[in-house]
Formats: sequence, structure tokens, C-alpha cells
Amino acid sequence: MDRYLTADHLALRERVNRFARDAIEPVARELDESGRFPWENVKAMADMGLFGIAVPKELGGLGLDQLSYILVVEELGKFDASHSITVSAHTTLGMSPILNFGTVEQKERFVPPLARGEVLGGFGLTEPGAGSDASGTRTRAERDGDGWRINGSKIFITNAGVGEIFVATAVTEPGRGAKGISSFIVCKPTVDESIAAAVGCGHLETLPFTDGVRAGEKEAKMGWCASDTRELHFEDAWVPSDQLLGEEGRGFINFMKTLDSGRIGVAALSLGLAEGALETAARYTVGREQFGQPVWDFQQVQFKLAEIATDIEAGRHLTYHAAWLMDHGQPFAKEAAMAKYFCSELAMRATLGAIQAMGGAGYTSDYPVERMMRDAKICEIGEGTNEIQRLVIARKVLEELRIDPVVGEAPQRVMEAAGA
Ligand SMILES: Cc1cc2nc3c(=O)[nH]c(=O)nc-3n(C[C@H](O)[C@H](O)[C@H](O)COP(=O)(O)OP(=O)(O)OC[C@H]3O[C@@H](n4cnc5c(N)ncnc54)[C@H](O)[C@@H]3O)c2cc1C
Repeated sequence: MDRYLTADHLALRERVNRFARDAIEPVARELDESGRFPWENVKAMADMGLFGIAVPKELGGLGLDQLSYILVVEELGKFDASHSITVSAHTTLGMSPILNFGTVEQKERFVPPLARGEVLGGFGLTEPGAGSDASGTRTRAERDGDGWRINGSKIFITNAGVGEIFVATAVTEPGRGAKGISSFIVCKPTVDESIAAAVGCGHLETLPFTDGVRAGEKEAKMGWCASDTRELHFEDAWVPSDQLLGEEGRGFINFMKTLDSGRIGVAALSLGLAEGALETAARYTVGREQFGQPVWDFQQVQFKLAEIATDIEAGRHLTYHAAWLMDHGQPFAKEAAMAKYFCSELAMRATLGAIQAMGGAGYTSDYPVERMMRDAKICEIGEGTNEIQRLVIARKVLEELRIDPVVGEAPQRVMEAAGA
């Protein structure tokens, strides 16, 4: 038995693996080339409960743990990163802030349709002037009657077009920096209403849609091509006071907490990519002959794939451990940042290594590894770049060692030296 995984975890992983092999693998290349959003598979994943894995049953979810969710993201990522990020952005970014910081009324109103996959969700933090420095938010929310009027724009928002329920940050008290930022729940209709009606998910007439919220055009990207990434615009968008999420002025800090858990999801997606690349390269090199022998038999190829396999094992421990800490209510920000940066860099190494081991075939779209390489790159950037992850980790290291970054000594030792 695996140290982290129970029989239920393994059964869930097997179920998702079967679904992904049957329904995702055959269409992944076409989706990558066309950039089409996979609505039919979204409906199938909704029916399997994959949009509400760790959500309590009474709020429409499966009531499973965080590790179960991580396994699903990893397994989907093995076959197609776009499917995986659609689930992950919806779950950790769009829905979890409402679960974690919402009132009872907000949870009962917005979580069940998200958890059941009736509509998709997303999270609007990034702006043209606020990327790594999210405290640079310019989107403004001003009090207006019994509500707030929001103006501004978010960029690079996953599910912005296809989704209907969003959590977005806006400045409510200018001049207070991060402490002047709040977050709001806003709804807008999906851009694919007719497709949503045809597949039976994606649009809910009864949501409180806000006039003045609209999605921009789809971004042209090098990877995650079947994931929907757009701007999200707020033009005199008025939301009632009961759609302020959490306390006023706590939007920034709550989003930082949300990103901590999101990073475990990106780590899992990256692991899936690395595993998919390893499997493809292993199958190919065993079957491909050069110099009268399978390419696999060249020791250099075996060494490369052995290194990738070892890295995957290390990444899995980091990722499952971060999820385990989260499930057990323990601090996990450092571990999530470590898992995210290690696994995303591993996904790049693994996909590049797989292409090299497969030669020219790996470079063509006849095999999925070139797509996996393009899909892996954004994992080093999204949900906080890997430079930002290293900053988070470095700060935690000083905290744990109780070293004051200003004086360079453990506060206790400084006090002792001063005779305290
Ligand atoms: C496909 C895609 C999907 C996305 N989905 C979402 C989403 O759903 N919601 C959302 O809110 N955002 C989303 N994003 C935005 C993403 O989180 C940001 O792109 C990311 O945080 C980096 O911000 P930036 O692009 O502005 O880069 P910048 O902040 O401009 O960074 C540029 C470079 O400077 C480096 N840098 C910046 N500050 C420092 C520092 N202090 N120390 C060292 N190096 C530094 C960075 O590491 C990077 O290499 C998405 C982006 C993409 C491309």
C-alpha cells in the first residue's frame, strides 16, 4: 500500500485514468490544434463529480479529501493539460475562495452549481499592471447604494469566457495598498450559451448575472490551447453588498491563501505531464530500432528516462505531502511552493527529455510530447512564477530558522548577546 493513498484513492485514480484514456486521449491533439473548448468532456466530468471532489456532500460535492482532488488533476494532466487546468482553475481558484471565506448564504447559493459542474468558475486577480505584484491591483470597487460599482480589467483569466461564476479582486480603499483590496463574487453568462444548452451544462439562468461584466477575446497561446483564457472586463458593474466575499480589505490576503492551494494543483498537473511524457517515450523507444537494436537498449536513453522517473517520484512525494498537510489542517504554504516549482521544472525537463529520446518523431504532432512540452511551460509561470515560489520558500526558511533578515541573527541569539 502506498504511504499516502488508500484503496479509495487508487480506485478513483483508476476511474479517472479509464475515462481519460477513452474520452480525452483520442481528441487531445484535435483540441490542441483547433483550440476548441471540450464541452462534451466537461459534461462527462461534471457527471463523474470531478468539479466538486473535495466539496462537502451537502454543498453538492463528492465529500472527498484534497489528495483525491490532486490525484484527479494529475491523472487528467497525463492525457491533456487543458482538461486538467479547466478542473483545477475552477476548483481551487474559482470555487475554494467561496468555500473558505464565504458566508453560509454565499456557500449555499454559489457552491452547489459549481461543485456539480452545472457552471464553471474562475478567479480574477491578474491585471495588466498587477502580475507577480498582485498588490498593484487597479480595478476599483466604489460603494454605490446597497452595493459596489466595479470598474477595471483582469487579464489571462482561465475559464473567463466559458465560466459563469467568478471571484475577483478590486481596490475598495485606495492608498492602503494590499490592505485596501477586497474580493467579490460576480456572475456573467457563458459565451457558449447555445453549446452549453446542447451538452446540458455550462449555463444557469437563475444566477444573479451582473450587467457590465464581459469576457474579451480568447488569448492565442503556445500551450493549454483548449483551455479558455481571456480578459475579464468590469464596466460600471454593480453587485449587491451580499456579493462582497470575506471581510472588506481582506481580499488580497485571502487570494494569497487561495494561491497556496492552487499551487498544489499546478504541481499535480505538472506531474501528470511528466508521467505522460515518460510513458510515451518509454513505449516509443522500446519499439524503435536503430543500429540493429531497440533505441531503449542504448544506456544513455535508459539513463535519461531513469532520471525522469526518479524526479517524478520525488515530485510526487512533495505534492502528496503538501496535499496531506492541507488535509490535516497544517501549514502548507512552503511545501506547496516547493511542489509547484519542483514539479513544473520537472515537467519541462521530462517533456524535453522525452522529445530527445524519441528523436524527430518526438518533435512532430504525431506524438503528444511536443504538445506536453508547450503545455508544461506555463506551469513555471502561472499561479506565481517560479521566481516568486523561490521567494516564498526563502522567506519560510528564515522564519523556520528564526533568523531576522535585517540583523542576520536569530532574534533569540541577538537578545542573548545583548544580555536580555
Ligand atoms: C494561460 C494563463 C492562465 C492564467 N490564469 C490565470 C487566472 O485564472 N487568474 C489569474 O488571476 N491569473 C491568471 N494568469 C496570470 C498568471 O498568474 C501571471 O501571468 C503570473 O502570475 C505572472 O505574472 P505576469 O505575467 O504579469 O509576469 P510579471 O510579474 O510581469 O513577471 C515577469 C518576470 O519577472 C519576474 N519577477 C517579477 N517579480 C519578481 C521578483 N520580485 N523577484 C524575481 N523575479 C520577479 C517573474 O518571475 C517573471 O519572470 C494566467 C496566465 C496565463 C498565461
